[in-house]
Amino acid sequence: MNTVLKGIICLTVILSFLSIQAQTVKKTNTQKRLILRNVSLIDVEAKTIHKEMDIVISDKKITAIGQKVKYEEKDSVVDLTGKFVIPGIIDAHTHLTTFKSREDLKKDLAYLLRHGITSVRDVGSDARQLAEIKRAIDAKEAIGPDIYYSAFMATRDYFTHGQQKSWMVGLKDQEFAPWVQLVNPGDNLDIVMATAKATGATGIKIYMGYDKSYLKNLAEAAKKFNLEVWGHAMQFPAKPTEVALSGMKVLSHAYMLEWEGLTDPGKNVNVSLSRYNSIDFKNVNIDPFIEAALTNNIIMDATLWISEKAGTYPHAIEFTKKLYKSGIKISAGTDWSVDTKEPHPTIYDELQVLIDKCGFTPIDALRSATLIAAETFGGVSKKGSIAIGKDADIVILEANPLENIRNYQSIKMVIKNGDVIIPDSVKKY
Ligand SMILES: [Zn+2]
Repeated sequence: MNTVLKGIICLTVILSFLSIQAQTVKKTNTQKRLILRNVSLIDVEAKTIHKEMDIVISDKKITAIGQKVKYEEKDSVVDLTGKFVIPGIIDAHTHLTTFKSREDLKKDLAYLLRHGITSVRDVGSDARQLAEIKRAIDAKEAIGPDIYYSAFMATRDYFTHGQQKSWMVGLKDQEFAPWVQLVNPGDNLDIVMATAKATGATGIKIYMGYDKSYLKNLAEAAKKFNLEVWGHAMQFPAKPTEVALSGMKVLSHAYMLEWEGLTDPGKNVNVSLSRYNSIDFKNVNIDPFIEAALTNNIIMDATLWISEKAGTYPHAIEFTKKLYKSGIKISAGTDWSVDTKEPHPTIYDELQVLIDKCGFTPIDALRSATLIAAETFGGVSKKGSIAIGKDADIVILEANPLENIRNYQSIKMVIKNGDVIIPDSVKKY
């Protein structure tokens, strides 16, 4: 190569480098920041409150936290002296689309977000509806929490079990779909998981009908496709301890631990169910489950409020108290349809049950609906606490929620991915 040509190439490289630098500098200089000034920051990681803090939000993220942060004229600065700041609340067990039209779903999601819920984990819905509404939220045609959803899996027993297939996951005439698959031993699990992944799901939800060895196969196959592994704590025939040893990460429903007391579950769902009354409920030993859950870092998705509401699961509270004392992570989830006529979403009732009936400290209850809930969908690096580098999902309260659970509804501001949702900067839904 001749020297002139070399020189031209070199100059081009330098010029393009300079122009990249200039663009970067320009971008940084014009970046408008939102600064939340002088707040009491509830730190769910360190389980403490930091007073007189400033939180800096830029380009959807939390970019700085500190005292008396310097700001410039172009920054938006909100003085929040006397206010309390918590991470956006996460409902870790929803069924958003059940009985819902697109318009209902849109209203429900706006309602959740306006009440401080910035993410949800959905464990059984019509994935077509969720994928579409996620797109609308990203495009700012709608407002709502970030949605992490599941692809549902079960054996034939589930599909012949009443109307469940249609009401929960949006099926009508067809027997199964990419987001709700009939999976039997012998199936090609790579195809099963590739199909699940293609729906946009974050994880699989293993509903029921599997023994311990097949659960392991399912969990391993899901992980190959980078899918989280979620499911019921009782799998019929696999009992809770076996489920906790299977490679699943999040187990739903504390009340299901009563099935640990079934001496002979039989080979399938119907045989197990027919033996329910043989359980010696007063003497169910969940110690082996606790040991397995601790060893495998299981998260228990307790869903207590709905158990209390149903009134038919008297052991769920006692089990959860014991799990909590043992140090097992417990996530907060509602397992209930959204009702926009209620004064607040039921996730706050779930927190109340954790505190009032299971002996949770207020900060531990909050962790269940933030940091631990984020862990259920593998989202801790982005969600679940107020920390530099994380998404700016933030709720600002007038009063301290650690003193009184009702203070969760003293909402002053809701910020999601850096956008201020409340006070109203967007249209009313
Ligand atoms: Zn559920």
